[in-house]
Amino acid sequence: MDLQEYKPVSRLQLKATQIEKPRFPVIDAHNHLGPPFGGESAKLSLSERLSILDEADVRVVVDLDGGWGEEILQRHLDQYKGFAPDRFIHFGGVDWSHWSEKGDNFGDWAASRLRKQVQWGAQGLKVWKGFGLNVRDPRGNLVQVDDDRLDPIWYTTAELNIPVLIHVADPLAFFDPLDECNERWEELTAHPDWHFPCPPYPPFLQIMDQLSNLVIQHPQTTFIGAHVGCYAENLNWVGELLDRAPNFYVDIGARIAELGRQPYTARQFFIDYADRILFGTDMGVDLDTYRTYYRFLETDDEYFNYGTGEIPDQGRWQIYGLFLHEDVLKKVYWENARQLFCV
Ligand SMILES: [Zn+2]
Repeated sequence: MDLQEYKPVSRLQLKATQIEKPRFPVIDAHNHLGPPFGGESAKLSLSERLSILDEADVRVVVDLDGGWGEEILQRHLDQYKGFAPDRFIHFGGVDWSHWSEKGDNFGDWAASRLRKQVQWGAQGLKVWKGFGLNVRDPRGNLVQVDDDRLDPIWYTTAELNIPVLIHVADPLAFFDPLDECNERWEELTAHPDWHFPCPPYPPFLQIMDQLSNLVIQHPQTTFIGAHVGCYAENLNWVGELLDRAPNFYVDIGARIAELGRQPYTARQFFIDYADRILFGTDMGVDLDTYRTYYRFLETDDEYFNYGTGEIPDQGRWQIYGLFLHEDVLKKVYWENARQLFCV
């Protein structure tokens, strides 16, 4: 038998709680409606997706697909928000490819595009993970996440009172050598382009330091660190940045695998930072995914699959529920996002 064929079935006899509806209504603060990140659900009609959202009691979905393509943003604004204005929030983006043409004015130009996107209806800015890894200035130098040439963008988001949802670096294992010790070996073998070995890429912690500088140097700008502050493997690090920067929030999209395998640390993290954590799934509009997240947050179920397939995507381990109290659940499901997005 090859190692990949080995699929041990747990013989633990444990309760499995089915949570049909969340304890409170939900705002999904990190998701994607279009392909490829919207998953299979991107193929469903809008009314099919709305009925799944109703079934899961998800009242609002934040769609981060505006990305760098302004026509995608316009299309999504028409297609989703135009149809169900109260159910969708769309984020705009920065098109880095214009840097060589705009030269030293790039920061101001990107800020002016953002103003346009907000006029059209965008309610936030999504910064994708290429920032810090691939984005280069006209001289060909790698742009650091805290590069002050981009300050006009952060000042403008503060002035427009819109949050910046930023994803850099994460996950940590994507920077490690692809060998028998890499805990995401299967995933990286399936997606070799997700691997960022140093060199040629900068070390993980160097990018994280830049993120920390960016957030601290722009206290008027609200930053949401995607995937538990881009460092779900180290909640101590994330907690320290949350302590230092009141303008920093995190979402939990696609990281219950990390949170649920460190349940004692994660539960305390949710209690300590209940005002700064946003619910999100990052898995498209999918009923089973929503219910798995509810089970993780609400129950004390033990040793269960964090994904919806037989073999979970991020590694062959299982997770434990956090049995969070109502006051924490209410903030994470609804209240924190309601305040940030002015819903
Ligand atoms: Zn995402």
